[in-house]
Amino acid sequence: MLFGGTEAVSAPGLVEKARNTAASATITVHRLRGNISVLMGAGGNIAVLPGSDGKLLIDAGFAGARPKIAEALAGVSSDPIKNLINTHWHFDHTDGNDWLHSAGATILAHENTRKYLSTATRVDGWAFRFARSPAGALPGEVFSTERTLELNGANIALKYYGPAHTDSDISVHFTKADIIHVGDTFWNGYYPFIDYSTGGSIDGMIRATEANLTKVTDKMIVIPGHGAIGDKSQLASYRDLLAAVRDKVAALKKQGKTLDEIVAAKPTAAWDAKWGGGFMNPRMFTGLVFEGV
Ligand SMILES: [Zn+2]
Repeated sequence: MLFGGTEAVSAPGLVEKARNTAASATITVHRLRGNISVLMGAGGNIAVLPGSDGKLLIDAGFAGARPKIAEALAGVSSDPIKNLINTHWHFDHTDGNDWLHSAGATILAHENTRKYLSTATRVDGWAFRFARSPAGALPGEVFSTERTLELNGANIALKYYGPAHTDSDISVHFTKADIIHVGDTFWNGYYPFIDYSTGGSIDGMIRATEANLTKVTDKMIVIPGHGAIGDKSQLASYRDLLAAVRDKVAALKKQGKTLDEIVAAKPTAAWDAKWGGGFMNPRMFTGLVFEGV
């Protein structure tokens, strides 16, 4: 999640509100293929691969949604929870780490995810300083560039994006099923949050999206960090909007325009109807782009 940007567009209270409403979240389960499902509704999208090696989860959702998530997981299969991968360090993807670890999960993530969870970390766009996470929530295993796993008959390739939405983002590619979880590098149908406080930038988001587009096939299923299950064409539209808004805002900023003047010029107008109805409104997203150009 969710809001963000410069001081003018930051969203105080967002984190508390998200945590407080998590318990009443409605979780929906979407069965994809290759025995992989996605749980939506309690933070970032959670992918689940059950099987004889125990359940593998990609992302942990909000801790307050534990009963609902546990119920949804039980509905997927009776296998115990054994492995959890975090796509990045943000709380809507890692808040549930501690309980999932208690339930039996070994946690794997990029080394910067452990770094940020291991210490108090502030996100300026949310006007919030996260306390150090409890020991059980910390990834027990980390990697820096690439990692491959074999679990439940699936080959799973993990790859670090480099600085993108944060500087802890990874993709998780189930190669046989041809399904990729791209974390918060992709918000399907919504303007994305970009966390400059921990290494993210608009240019990094564009680079990550280009990397996703080099991998994606016509049949590949793309699980975004937020929003509906996507595909190649949606990813391409998202790349186009990020690149076009970046260029528009950069040109206006170069002319010496202020953020308020640029927002008034509506550089996102062509995309607002389709992408601006989520947590990041056009003004907030424009602010995030402005910060990075
Ligand atoms: Zn995020």
